Amino acid sequence: MRRKIGILAIQGAFAEHASMLSALNVEVIEIRQKSHLENIELDGIILPGGESTVMGKLLRELDMFYPLKKLIEDGLPVLGTCAGLILLAKEVINDNECHLATMDISIKRNAYGRQLGSFQVNHEFKYLGEIPMTFIRAPYINSISNEGEILAIVDNNIVAARQNNMLVTSFHPELTTDLSVHKYFLDMI
Ligand code: GLN
Repeated sequence: MRRKIGILAIQGAFAEHASMLSALNVEVIEIRQKSHLENIELDGIILPGGESTVMGKLLRELDMFYPLKKLIEDGLPVLGTCAGLILLAKEVINDNECHLATMDISIKRNAYGRQLGSFQVNHEFKYLGEIPMTFIRAPYINSISNEGEILAIVDNNIVAARQNNMLVTSFHPELTTDLSVHKYFLDMI
């Protein structure tokens, strides 16, 4: 059966993830309200890049926060990119606010500074080889628990990791033409 992946579509760069998934022959469901989380049987969900503070606020206002947290805690495969990674982190070292807090990572927001915030590199990603990585005002992972697996390190900073059903990247795989991170995510399902 064709897999059904939800993309949180309340703010941020969700359209680009949708085209990547369509290219991989996956059914894409835009998740915009609580009922979408409750009534649709998803095989996985993507939390896109954008502004984590805005997304966190909207998740709470739209009453989607706890249903989403529960789905992830119950094992729904999730891919968090950039702001999506921030939403999943249990600790944000330069901010008082945490959001879904399901993943045992400590992260730093806007870690590359506002001016130097956007850049692209080709870099090694465990299991995938060298892939293009686009960073936009990106966070990085400062530390990760023993439960987690580090998947990519750029300039001594952890920029991709996995813990059970949760896969996160500091960069935006959806802004390149390389489908390998999305394929890796689909393999987790
Ligand atoms: N700087 C954003 C934040 O802190 C993340 C940027 C992005 O998702 N491209 O939420």
